[in-house]
Amino acid sequence: MYNFSAGPGVLAKEVLLEAQKDLINFNNSGISITEASHRGKVYEPIHTECIALFKELMNIPENYEVLLVQGGASTQFEAVPLNLLKKGKADYIVTGNFAKKAYKEAIKYGDVVAAASSEDKNFTYIPSFDESSFRSDIDYVHCTSNNTIFGTKMNKFPEVETLVCDMSSNILSEVVDVSKFGVIYAGAQKNISCAGLTVVIVRKDLLDQAMPICPTMLKWSTQAKDNSLYNTPPCFSIYIACLTLRWLKSLGGIPAIQKINEAKAKLLYDYIDNSGFYVNPVRKEDRSMMNVPFVSPSPELDAEFCKGAEAAGIMAIKGHRLVGGMRASIYNAMPVEGIECLISYMKKFAEEHK
Ligand code: PMP
Repeated sequence: MYNFSAGPGVLAKEVLLEAQKDLINFNNSGISITEASHRGKVYEPIHTECIALFKELMNIPENYEVLLVQGGASTQFEAVPLNLLKKGKADYIVTGNFAKKAYKEAIKYGDVVAAASSEDKNFTYIPSFDESSFRSDIDYVHCTSNNTIFGTKMNKFPEVETLVCDMSSNILSEVVDVSKFGVIYAGAQKNISCAGLTVVIVRKDLLDQAMPICPTMLKWSTQAKDNSLYNTPPCFSIYIACLTLRWLKSLGGIPAIQKINEAKAKLLYDYIDNSGFYVNPVRKEDRSMMNVPFVSPSPELDAEFCKGAEAAGIMAIKGHRLVGGMRASIYNAMPVEGIECLISYMKKFAEEHK
């Protein structure tokens, strides 16, 4: 089956095969990776390698910490204001459902405004902004680089001192200049690993401005001081992340996967645009490379399309309830053969229902 789920999403076959072995006897230790103490010699090299590989592959400058935490990206919706609202003000770019959730958490803690939003057109585009869109005396600007549900992607980021970005659904998919961001965070279950791990990449100077009410477990400095071992980390998810990062490195790193992702996305968008049957509702220049929503001529046909997909080897193609239709999530680990299989089913379906 080709798994088009938005998350937890597809993992590389090489990663799964390796994990299968280690599930019984990890590195000839005689125990499973799932049984290893987070402070023991069996697990420790994985933890260290995982952080090192993030730094290497994303080219993360020295003045940043990589934190491996739990709670999903959603917990970071609260952690961000609790760690950063020193002056008490922040501006948000609201480009989708998750961006809006992040904004709604933040307004509990300070003077927080939506500086730009694309909700007027059901988040089918990225709103424009420039320096004048943001207030001058704010602690940070928050944005979402890829909108998983609506299938949009930011190609330009605000030039501000502290930019915070939720990169949950496109981290590791294309080259980004980490030095342009104060904080990057991402749930692992799309492009990094299985569910459980959340990665937070934070500029070191931002570690000491948490609000006094910030819970110890949400304070980034707590995990930074303890090398993300303040408490039990999500060891298995970190282990899968480590295997995924090794796999990515073996392919040639992020520049190499970006080329592959561009080709995969082009294949699918080109077919949709020329099909005369399917439509992608997103403004062309804002299209996501990871999540591709599309509709057929009617909701009834959409339902029929989804119903027949599994028999064609296509899993989890149904669109999010806020958008309807279909959505193909084509993360790093989706092979081009998966896209070809989807297009061939789409063609057959269109011919039968035109
Ligand atoms: N942000 C984005 C962009 C997402 O796609 C998701 C999950 N689909 C979340 C945040 C929420 O992540 P989590 O489930 O890890 O809390």
